[in-house]
Formats: sequence, structure tokens, C-alpha cells
Amino acid sequence: MKKITFFDTKPYDIHSFDALNKNFIINYLPEKLTRQTVYLAKGSDAICVFVNDTIDSFVIDKLIEMGVKLIALRSAGFNHVDLKTASNKLPIVRVPAYSPYAVAEHAMALLLTLNRKIHKAYARTKEFNFSLNGLMGFDFYNKTIGILGTGRIGQILIKIAKGFGMNVIAYDLYQNPNLDIQYVTLDDLLSKSDMISVHLPLTEQTKHLINDETINKMKKGVYLVNTSRGGVINTEALIRGLKNEIIKGAGLDVYEEETNLFFEDMSDTIIQDDILSILVNMPNVILTSHQAFLTEEALSNIAKTTLSNIESFFKDGTINNEVCYLCKN
Ligand code: NAD
Repeated sequence: MKKITFFDTKPYDIHSFDALNKNFIINYLPEKLTRQTVYLAKGSDAICVFVNDTIDSFVIDKLIEMGVKLIALRSAGFNHVDLKTASNKLPIVRVPAYSPYAVAEHAMALLLTLNRKIHKAYARTKEFNFSLNGLMGFDFYNKTIGILGTGRIGQILIKIAKGFGMNVIAYDLYQNPNLDIQYVTLDDLLSKSDMISVHLPLTEQTKHLINDETINKMKKGVYLVNTSRGGVINTEALIRGLKNEIIKGAGLDVYEEETNLFFEDMSDTIIQDDILSILVNMPNVILTSHQAFLTEEALSNIAKTTLSNIESFFKDGTINNEVCYLCKN
């Protein structure tokens, strides 16, 4: 039986993979994959990693040296992988889609929470404070939502927003003619939207797409939600946008410096990241720690596709769902 070492494993991963695995010996490790922990993969035929593991040139070369034949990402995003180094040396497979519903629904949950101040109401009523002062929201009906990226997740949020009776506008490099929405320029989306939800992959082109310049083009009082990757937003610019009240509230499931923080209980630690501390302390910022994917259905689909990717590779060398430097990913 082939041996697979899993990095950054949490109880919910073990639960979903054990429910489906029949063919592999799985070594579940809580450690993240780093230059220091890569040696734990010794003796493995493949490794399985998540979004905050490090897959740089050092790690890739070490894995090859130790005889690892495949890296299986149990994520859709692959911005954390040095594809150039891995090219033609170590195949990388991923889970391109596991539940766009999970992420789109979380984006809407963040928007609704920001607008109707559910986080504040929850804390108040726990203390028998039944005052409504400061909890005013607005109807979503007839408001304009701007969707940045109309791929799998953006498309589901479009349907959800239409269910609310919202006016949907979108910006994407490629316009999908099957979507009954109005595509606009990025500038138009920024200036016309009452709320903006980001569903772009993190690439060289999208890194810090939300910056001082683009924030200054936004409609005053906009809600901004990001469930894609933290690096799409320049966080310091976001804080300036929140302080000067262009951005009325931000719902963030991802953060550009999340790697050593998210998915862990840091409640007994003095957080050294001052930018994060500012965000956490702002009353109009809601932060969730990269949990948009976390539904039963998504986890089950992640396990199913990951195991199937690994099985095909070891059965006859078929590389399903490959990401690579020269592929059209
Ligand atoms: P997708 O590939 O289906 O869609 C991405 C869309 O972005 C495509 O339509 C593409 O044309 C567009 N795009 C790419 N580069 C662009 C650019 N420079 N300008 C304008 N448009 C551009 O991806 P998806 O499945 O919808 O996922 C979106 C992102 O969500 C993923 O890349 C991933 O990083 C993130 N994600 C987050 C979670 C989470 O738990 N928070 C879970 C899954 C995915």
C-alpha cells in the first residue's frame, strides 16, 4: 500500500478522509509543511497539503530527493506552490471545485452580518442588552452588488444575490455570455457597487488589485467582502479606506499574512502582527479564519477528489486535475 503523508491536518480532515480511504496508509500530521518539517515526509509516496503549507523550491527539491512522487493539494487555490520549480519534476494535483456553494454562501453571510450587525446583536443580547441603537442596516433589495470574478464561486453568489432582488454587475477578464448580468469595467464596478465581493484567484495580475487607488474609486459607504485570497487586497490600504469611511465595513475570510495564524488557536499568544490587531479591533470588520470552505459537503468532496487524484496517479500514471507551470490551469 502506498503511504501518503498529510500536513496541517485537523480533526475534520481526518474524519472526512478516513470515511472514504480504503487504498492508502495515511500518516496525518498536525505540522504545517515548511522547510523545517519537510523531512517528516521521508518514506512517503505522496504528500497532501493545504493552503498555508509552504511548497517552495527548497521544499520541492527535498521532496524529490526523498522519493516523493506526487503532491496532492486538498484545495482549489495553488498560489502557494512554486510551479516553475516543480515543472516536469514533481506533479501537482488539486481539487478544482468542491463546493462553490460553501464559499458563496459564506460571502453572503459576511455581507448580511456586516449590514444587519448580527455580531453586535449576538453579544448584546447575551448581556440582556436589548437596545437597537447602532444596529440599523439597509435593504439588500434593489441595491447593487459588484462581483469581482465570475468563475465557479462568483456565479453562485450571483444567483444568491438575484434571489435577494439585487442588481448584479460584474468584472472578469472573460465575460460569460450565459450569465444574465451586466459586465462592466473595473472602474464602473468600483464606483457603482453598494457592496463588492472578491472571487479572483491570487495571481501576479490580481495581487493588491484592491489598493489605495481602487479604494478611492469606490462608492462611499461600500461593503467589501473577500473570500478569495488575502493578497488580492493591500491590507494597509484597506485600513485607510475603513478609516476615511469610503469602506463602511469589511468581511474578510482571508488575510495576506494569515499563514502562521489562521487555523490555529492563538488565544494565549501576544499577536505580533499590528495590522491584524487593528483589523480585529475595528467594529465594522468581521474576520473569519479561512473557513468559507468548511461545510460537510465541501470536505467530503475534497476527500473524494483528492483520493481519486492520488489513486489514478499510482494506478497508471494519469495526472488528473494537474496544475503546472505550462498548463492552462
Ligand atoms: P474560478 O477559477 O472558477 O474563477 C476565477 C475567475 O476569476 C475566472 O472567471 C477568471 O476569469 C477570473 N480572473 C482571473 N484573473 C483575473 C484578472 N486578473 N482579472 C479579472 N478576472 C480574473 O475560481 P473559483 O472556484 O470561483 O474560486 C475563486 C477563488 O476563491 C480561488 O482562486 C481561491 O483562491 C478562493 N477560494 C477560497 C476558499 C475559502 O475557503 N475562502 C475556498 C475555495 C476557493
